[in-house]
Amino acid sequence: MRPKVYLVGAGPGAPDLLTLRAARLLVAADIVFFDALVHPDTLALAEGATKVPVGKRRGRPSPGQEVINRALVRAASRHRTVVRLKGGDPMIFGRAHEEIAALERAGVEWEVVPGVTAALAASAELGVSLTRRGLSRSVTFVTPAVGTEERRTDWASAVVAADTAAIYMGAGEAERIAAALLARGLSHATPVVMIVNASLPDQAAHWGTLASLPRLAARRGEAPAIILMGRVLDEAIQDIAQDREGAVALLRLIGPLVPA
Ligand code: SAH
Repeated sequence: MRPKVYLVGAGPGAPDLLTLRAARLLVAADIVFFDALVHPDTLALAEGATKVPVGKRRGRPSPGQEVINRALVRAASRHRTVVRLKGGDPMIFGRAHEEIAALERAGVEWEVVPGVTAALAASAELGVSLTRRGLSRSVTFVTPAVGTEERRTDWASAVVAADTAAIYMGAGEAERIAAALLARGLSHATPVVMIVNASLPDQAAHWGTLASLPRLAARRGEAPAIILMGRVLDEAIQDIAQDREGAVALLRLIGPLVPA
């Protein structure tokens, strides 16, 4: 059998959101190159493999993409089953294309195993469908983040054109995102939710509007966060507002019962 490099999606965080194919490959892997967001229990499946971290870790920068590309090619000359384990889905903001191109150039066989991308994990956790009859027929996966030497593209137009938007790697630039979208004519009142650590036990959802996005995003901390935007969130936000009103009303009621 010829060596092969598998670009494998680890899913959004929860280890049991891994595909069976990914799990089988991890068990069989000789060497695994893994991203920082991969859960330790997922990695533990690769019992017999050499494990090489290639993600950004606490302040230390990740090895450059070129270094990772070369490491994958080199690993394929020494091992039969090489796994490149990436957070979420490898083909969504995962630089899979660059790794595939390097493997192609070196004549190394490769295969992609999909994973649950962050937007879909967030949608599932909220119980909010990203598409909906009569309300949302289009979903855009977008990021305002650009690497050095990367061409700037018009991400804001994509958000304006889509019924629902999932914004990756955006929580750190919430102010710029809100300003750009407001300048394009999106309403201040556009419903927004930021989901931190989707699918993990410490997941949190912060609800608001485009106008309050910068304030929401300030609550993210270091954890990965994705922003969803669009009218599919309307009802969920109203429910939450009602809950809040209910809670406030209840507090008003029981307030006098509490001795001063
Ligand atoms: N390939 C990955 C995305 C990599 S880019 C995927 O398909 O999900 C990294 C960005 O993904 C983070 O900045 C954040 O916006 C998002 N992300 C990844 N995991 C997440 C999680 N568990 N919860 C919320 N957002 C997440």
